[in-house]
Amino acid sequence: MDSFYHSTRSLLEPVTSKQAILAGIAPDGGLYVSDGVLASPLDLEPLWAGDYPSRARRVLGHLLPDFTEQEVAGCVRRAYGDTFDDPAVTPVTPVGDDWLLELFHGPTSAFKDVALQMLPQLMGQARAGDGRDVMIVCATSGDTGKAALAGFADVEGCGVCVFYPDGKVSDVQHLQMATQAGGNVAVYAVRGNFDDAQGEVKRIFADRDLAVRLAGEGVFLSSANSINVGRLVPQVVYYLDAYAQLLERGAVAMGDEVDFYVPTGNFGDVLAGYYAKRLGLPVGRLHVCSNANDVLCDFLATGTYDRRRPFHKTISPSMDILVSSNLERLLYFASDGDCELVASLMADLAEKGAYTVPAPVMDAIRSTFSGGRATDDECRGTIRRTWERDGVLLDPHTAVAKTVLDAQEPQGRARVVLATASPYKFPAEVLAALGEDVAGLDGFAAMDRLAALTGTEPPAPLSALRDRAVRFTEVVDRDAMGAAVERAAGAVFPAGA
Ligand SMILES: *Cc1c(COP(=O)(O)O)cnc(C)c1O
Repeated sequence: MDSFYHSTRSLLEPVTSKQAILAGIAPDGGLYVSDGVLASPLDLEPLWAGDYPSRARRVLGHLLPDFTEQEVAGCVRRAYGDTFDDPAVTPVTPVGDDWLLELFHGPTSAFKDVALQMLPQLMGQARAGDGRDVMIVCATSGDTGKAALAGFADVEGCGVCVFYPDGKVSDVQHLQMATQAGGNVAVYAVRGNFDDAQGEVKRIFADRDLAVRLAGEGVFLSSANSINVGRLVPQVVYYLDAYAQLLERGAVAMGDEVDFYVPTGNFGDVLAGYYAKRLGLPVGRLHVCSNANDVLCDFLATGTYDRRRPFHKTISPSMDILVSSNLERLLYFASDGDCELVASLMADLAEKGAYTVPAPVMDAIRSTFSGGRATDDECRGTIRRTWERDGVLLDPHTAVAKTVLDAQEPQGRARVVLATASPYKFPAEVLAALGEDVAGLDGFAAMDRLAALTGTEPPAPLSALRDRAVRFTEVVDRDAMGAAVERAAGAVFPAGA
């Protein structure tokens, strides 16, 4: 089996999965993919009898072939040992005749934890024997930043520097990041939107002069964004795990296809479902569910990806994204590994802000993926209806996917909505959807009201935020982000230390 990883834009310079995880992004700006590990089938049979950690060990061992069995086992134990507040890690629960895959039981109450509790472990293992320190640089639309901070805080030899769009994350998300503890963390608000911050982070990674200056201090940069292989791979696990849970519940028989509805931003989560399908899981359709920033829906309908459009601030801010980076990986696989095509499409995106995919490649994509969209008002209606009818409280991101599902007739297949955040991360929006007046309520008052109204409980780490002091208040312009990274690296790794 060819177990190497290479850029989506070139077959040259193959690397191991450890090297890919440390680098984050390929030197040519492409994303790391492996042809071999997805082409060789995973024996699924042993997965059904196990539990989440045993499934994680098998899937990670397969997708990261240069990690030893012991290395993977240690990473899984440290990442999922006692960090999630549900013994199933990602429990599947009923909602009406359908299912929710609850991905928000980790320390920061969003699905990003599943990957970001694991990534520091994988990096730690990949770094072993490398004398250098690693500075994680991360742009966030709200949830990745906190999950990265929680995953990397006080991890030996690592620092983490997070940028979020000023004023465009929820109260709770802001406090989660601004109060982060740890001697190796830095948090900055950026004037602009998520795409501005992500675009600048990509430029920082490509900045050779900066890399040389940092190398002089024994530091290199890496990414905790979902472009990192180490972010993507842990997410494949819960698709397989969800299938195992449905089997246990008798909701599917072995071999039955299951449809997944995925609230989508950067296309990482839904791409992991595609990886699970490539590994042999009976996945029916993957529904790419968008809010008003519906560039992916338009892409699936027309074959043209066009980012030249207004940016909408919605009640599902973690999906307010116009450039879905991980789509590049799907283009690679759907074109049967045509690096030249991928490179030219990405050049079009950079130069013109748009690209058009050849018809056969679109056919391949559409054979698995469907697009669906939901407005904020539709999502509010879904939150209210799902609470009143099914007694299940959804967060606004999950509501996007549930809205798309509710608009479709069931096709006889089991349907699973990926629940990506706790409703308590967005308590004011959820309360408003339930018809409450939220004028003047801050995040904590909203949490209390939501708990009193619904008889549900906020996750403990979110309630605890109210007692924590704000540590980070700095707002920077986009063109000052590179300097901020350098300052943070200097503070975390003082020269000669
Ligand atoms: C990040 C995020 C998403 C989008 O996931 P992608 O992998 O970027 O598509 C959806 N919901 C929530 C709550 C998120 O934090």
